[in-house]
Amino acid sequence: MGGLLELTDITVRYGADIHPVRDLTMSVQEGGTVALVGSNGAGKTTLLRALSGTLRFHRGTVSAGGVTLAGDRIDRLDPAEIVRRGIAHVPEGRRIFKEMTVEENLLVGSLALGARKDRRTLLDEMLDLFPVLRKKRRTGAALLSGGEQQMLAIGRSLMSRPRLLMLDEPSLGLAPTAISMVGDVIARIAERGTTVLLAEQNIALARRLATQVLVLRLGRVEWRGAPGEMDDSGVVRDLYLGGT
Ligand code: ATP
Repeated sequence: MGGLLELTDITVRYGADIHPVRDLTMSVQEGGTVALVGSNGAGKTTLLRALSGTLRFHRGTVSAGGVTLAGDRIDRLDPAEIVRRGIAHVPEGRRIFKEMTVEENLLVGSLALGARKDRRTLLDEMLDLFPVLRKKRRTGAALLSGGEQQMLAIGRSLMSRPRLLMLDEPSLGLAPTAISMVGDVIARIAERGTTVLLAEQNIALARRLATQVLVLRLGRVEWRGAPGEMDDSGVVRDLYLGGT
């Protein structure tokens, strides 16, 4: 049976010479959490940009093969249509709107959906999922801690009711306690039935959350397996010692 998301022979280019992702084939099963791990430059960010259609803003192009979501081709669609089809992308660095309040940031996340009347219900759901944001709903987003900003970025993406939530390095720049809180939230989102694709350099976090791990190296899948198989494979040692 096919996965919710299927990538076949995906190659991504920036200009003519840079190929950060090469002939990549992978599948994300509905209800699972797939972690993409690999050092800086392995191609994780580029791959998520290709899937959300935002690659074009970075002068990148996707070629060969194709990407399907629930059986439908999505790799030629624009980013807003990809959101409507059910993929939400929390980019690296969070990119929340610092001049807006928490609540306003969350509401922006629902703009791609047609149904305006749904928004208040969705907002309430999000504030239940993130009690810390409920307390600060009228606070300016710039005043949140790093961990809270990451939660807000995740909450905003969930406001589009995605089937697949893609997270790019949610642990980046956070203290260990904040990383563990963000990990708890991602685990809860997965338990509620949203499929998760997580790009992470923090191997401990990736192993904790993933049902399937893919190790990327220079844009290719170097290893794939269950988190529990990582120790025996030697792949963790290579990740720490191997550079890109
Ligand atoms: P990171 O953790 O740093 O995000 P990554 O695994 O996500 O690492 P990418 O950001 O996808 O890796 O980068 C893969 C390669 O593509 C790198 O060599 C990077 O320099 C290059 N690259 C990224 N963005 C562009 C761009 N807009 N134009 C040209 N090259 C780029």
